[in-house]
Amino acid sequence: MRPARRPFGSGPPVSAFTLGTMRALESPDHMAAVLGAAMGAGINHLETAPAYGPAEPFLGQALRQLQSQGLAPEGGWLITSKILPGCDLAAGQEQLRSSLRRLGVARLDGLAVHGLNTPEHLIWADRGPGADLLQWALDTGLATQVGFTSHGSPALIAEALATGRFRFCSLHVHLFDQTRLPLARAALDAGIGVLAISPADKGGRLYDPPPQLLADCAPFHPLELAYRFLLDQGISTLSLGAAQPADLVWAERWWRGALAGDGASRPRLAAALERLGRAGAERLGADRCGQCRACLPCPNGVPIPELLRLRNLAVGHGMEAFAQERYNLIGRAGHWWETLNAEACQACGACLPRCPHGLPIPTLLADTHRRLAAAPRRRLWG
Ligand code: SF4
Ligand code: SF4
Repeated sequence: MRPARRPFGSGPPVSAFTLGTMRALESPDHMAAVLGAAMGAGINHLETAPAYGPAEPFLGQALRQLQSQGLAPEGGWLITSKILPGCDLAAGQEQLRSSLRRLGVARLDGLAVHGLNTPEHLIWADRGPGADLLQWALDTGLATQVGFTSHGSPALIAEALATGRFRFCSLHVHLFDQTRLPLARAALDAGIGVLAISPADKGGRLYDPPPQLLADCAPFHPLELAYRFLLDQGISTLSLGAAQPADLVWAERWWRGALAGDGASRPRLAAALERLGRAGAERLGADRCGQCRACLPCPNGVPIPELLRLRNLAVGHGMEAFAQERYNLIGRAGHWWETLNAEACQACGACLPRCPHGLPIPTLLADTHRRLAAAPRRRLWG
């Protein structure tokens, strides 16, 4: 039977899906409509941030609107908001109080460092003003638990988890990017909740899959396969940045299945994942990057596995649109994404003997650039 609520760090249990509030930003009424649909889909966990434009005040108004109609999930809403790293203690305290005012709540169920992406961010959160701020939020009861979101390297995330400061984290763990999955599993084993960041969008634009990917994932829709995979791995909750009530359809199906106790068949899931992996491997042939990261570090800072992962997706599953979108954000999103693309490769050859697959890495990087370089399409979020 599927668990309807799932453990999430040291806080109350959360729904399998978390409503991300960065896209329902037309108006407070629109936010209320999405919030109502989320409730109908069994969602009790909301995720927002001051950095998401008017999301916090709109969410606050939407919550009041639903409350006036007597609408709330069983046990009430659980709200996680965030704080950008780098501020001093007083500024951070004021930022948290402002978030609470905008949301109209007395405390947050989760307070996350928003984008713990660099070693400096970690120092701020673990030994600097951020550490004092997080402790103050816990001591005053303004936050029930603290965590972080990260787009940083696996090593940085491992270091952050090892500090013992955080009870939950939001990570890029995806069916099509499993680099951080061992970290997520270790976190879960240590009782730290793990939220998967946007499997539908950042996980591969799976809401709009190319025909090849649709065929590779059958009989599941690619998005359903990704959701089932992550939840089967024990990931606590999956963020879903719904722009419209209709975007919550998969969450609602999951919820109804959970209520009915119709657990997904593991053998069916395993068979679909096996077919998917085989289809990609056959198309990529000997050029498939196994994502082992043994080629690192590159003396020129080329993020080889990240770039070849995009090539894997484009060649292996026809996911060019997603791969191009991500590739062309490189160097344009600050510390939220990679800063160097394949053009930074100087063909020095230092990585070649380290690759256990004997891949011609400089040639594949040049091919990646040729396939994916294009005009930028959009920002990382917003
Ligand atoms: S060949 Fe390119 S990717 Fe490999 S180590 Fe040299 S510069 Fe880095
Ligand atoms: S060592 Fe080879 S297979 Fe492993 S990540 Fe680097 S390029 Fe890919």
